[in-house]
Amino acid sequence: ASTWADVPQGPPTIQTTPIADLNFLRKAILGITEAFKADSFKEKINLGVGAYRDDQGKPYVLPSVRIAEDKVVSQLLNKEYAGITGVPEFTKAAALLAYGPDSSALDRVAITQSISGTGALRIGGAFLQRFSPGAKTIYIPNPSWANHAAVFKDSGLTVEKYRYYNKDTIGLDFEGLIADIKGAPKNSIFLLHACAHNPTGVDPTPEQWKEISEAVKSGDHYAFFDMAYQGFASGDTDKDAFPIRYFIEQGHNPALAQSFAKNMGLYGERVGAFSIVCADAEEKKRVDSQIKILVRPLYSNPPVHGARVASTILNDPALNKQWLGEVKEMADRIITMRALLKKELENLGSKHDWSHITSQIGMFAYTGLTPEQMDTLAKEHSVYATKDGRISVAGITTGNVKRLAAAIHAVKP
Ligand code: PMP
Repeated sequence: ASTWADVPQGPPTIQTTPIADLNFLRKAILGITEAFKADSFKEKINLGVGAYRDDQGKPYVLPSVRIAEDKVVSQLLNKEYAGITGVPEFTKAAALLAYGPDSSALDRVAITQSISGTGALRIGGAFLQRFSPGAKTIYIPNPSWANHAAVFKDSGLTVEKYRYYNKDTIGLDFEGLIADIKGAPKNSIFLLHACAHNPTGVDPTPEQWKEISEAVKSGDHYAFFDMAYQGFASGDTDKDAFPIRYFIEQGHNPALAQSFAKNMGLYGERVGAFSIVCADAEEKKRVDSQIKILVRPLYSNPPVHGARVASTILNDPALNKQWLGEVKEMADRIITMRALLKKELENLGSKHDWSHITSQIGMFAYTGLTPEQMDTLAKEHSVYATKDGRISVAGITTGNVKRLAAAIHAVKP
């Protein structure tokens, strides 16, 4: 028999899984893509995508990225390996972007380039598995980006959930969240979405973040921030970084996964960073050495092109300014589409409260529609999104928002 005769067929893998219940979602997203493709209706709408689209519904390469790429190419750089922790000008600028120019963390942060946000989470998982002094249990929100559970499980951590979303209010279950942080065994690890929570679009307020910081501290827990959408949520990279900067001010020394997939549109270039804020420069040196020992057998060293592009944008003042404007444009388009969808629903005479559509933030909106209503949206209105009621706001355009609102109004009159 073949050596691999007993390897079972796995379920189809999908890349942008956004919810806690993986199997449910696998079926849901696969169903959507297939059904969307098979639908011959010209005005069909796909709200399942996890990437930004412009107002024509097309993938978008940022003009600042085009310019940076030209600059990188015209320098005729060689293709030698980067060091284990990547392109130093990139990681330095990435830390500056996340922590801010006045941060006390900058002199004591151990940072490495990573294979985008996913790779950063995976390195973090491996580091915590090896060195975390607690029970090596990580708590992720319920629901969370579905890959979180898989990444941390494969890193050898035990994955638990904390309460996050309240489906009755279509908002944050703040009491549940605080109770679960306080109730967890001491020295647990808490994975926190820094901004634009995926999949719900529901973020804590600054005041709530302050209480979360207190609760994490009172339990002697460790905070691991996933910041996959810095700038993409509010349009302002400083505002979106508030939680992590606040935690550091309060004396936490968190870990951080950064991604440049969304805010620079560098999805396929896989540009990210993983960092750990250390107590001091001496600790940083020790942590740095162990990060290298972890990364070396994983992939030796990261790819250089995307990091050079991001580094060019971050380090060139004029280009940086242009990029910040472009991030804001993307965020603003999404915010505008939220407002437009709500307004169109109200214009149609909808009696329901749709304010959650505009109070939520980032790429995704949790509509509160039931699986049955989502089914009808697809079957009768050619509007495709996951059964949990999540829609990708990036898929809404000035051209399709009226039809979308009419479809939603029809399934939930
Ligand atoms: N974390 C969250 C919450 C995400 O939504 C994503 C992307 N969908 C990622 C991390 C990682 O994405 P990437 O590996 O493309 O940077």
